[in-house]
Amino acid sequence: MSAEEFLKNHILLKYNCDLAQVDELANSNIELGESLFDMFNTDIKSKGLGYSLGKSFEVPMVEQKIDELCQSVGLKKKIEGLRVMLSHDIDYIYPTKRMVLKRLVGYRKFSQIGGDYLDSISNILEISNDFCGDDGNPVVFIPNPVRSDSLKQRLREYFIDPSYDIRSELFGKVIKILKESNSTIGSHGSLNSIVENKFQKEKSDLETIVNCNIVINRQHWLNVPDVNDLDVLADAGIQIDSSLGWNDRVAFRGGMLGPYFPTKSRRIQEIPLVAMDGTLFDELSLSHSQALKLLKKKFRPLISMGGVVSVDWHDRAASPSYRWERTYQEFLTWLKCEGAVSFDLNDFRDRYL
Ligand SMILES: [Zn+2]
Repeated sequence: MSAEEFLKNHILLKYNCDLAQVDELANSNIELGESLFDMFNTDIKSKGLGYSLGKSFEVPMVEQKIDELCQSVGLKKKIEGLRVMLSHDIDYIYPTKRMVLKRLVGYRKFSQIGGDYLDSISNILEISNDFCGDDGNPVVFIPNPVRSDSLKQRLREYFIDPSYDIRSELFGKVIKILKESNSTIGSHGSLNSIVENKFQKEKSDLETIVNCNIVINRQHWLNVPDVNDLDVLADAGIQIDSSLGWNDRVAFRGGMLGPYFPTKSRRIQEIPLVAMDGTLFDELSLSHSQALKLLKKKFRPLISMGGVVSVDWHDRAASPSYRWERTYQEFLTWLKCEGAVSFDLNDFRDRYL
């Protein structure tokens, strides 16, 4: 993708305008386009597993500059205001020894063994649905990892990928909760799903089990080794991806707000992930009030900018070992008061797809 294509595609996607207007705008701002594309590209290239090794965008600066350019010639956005895709990666449906060990070693925090996360999942979805009202639905990402042929990769997958079986009786109960809460079901591509070409199988087997067509995806651990690989998802029928964010910070990948085209082919749209529970409480070790303060600081400027972004609270967030639901609830109450509304898949398709 060239700088000119990057700028033009983004303006056409987000603003009500015609081709001639966009051509003129891009041609008279070539230098600005090149510098924005360079900023975007540098940050969007994954360092692996969704961890940034360098600086990241504290504010969506690339998006802000494009907005300023468009507003200077009087263009109007297709959607005013902020839409938030409330999402839930269901990595576990019960605590496993591996999970407890990983948290103990990684963050020196202990999680209880025994029981399951069904009550927590219901509780978190209830909080999401309070925010969504009639405006949309939470999106729930479900993994269905296919194991690698390589022994080395299998070992890596063993420690990183989710391990429950979507054919189990317990998962049947999860499906019931998801259907009752009117959640939109998305796929949660496994660690090696893109590079080992396993994504199509993971998705189609999941579609059979949950009995619906899946068009939205997030990679587990936000693992997108090369952003252009996202076209593999489009080959399998995915229209929207929400994998581009950071595991270790609340920041704006590529300096952008959604939607945007992450690849040259424009076959897939990105709704960036801005904030996750695990980032706030495990990675950054924040307290409830510190986390809430940071969330408000990061989201306040987005309210007036407008766009679509995602927030992720996991399966176990409302269980006794975590108790992360209070921050989620207070954050969403605040967001609603500020005027943010829920992402709605049908409305999104009408406007952007
Ligand atoms: Zn995950």
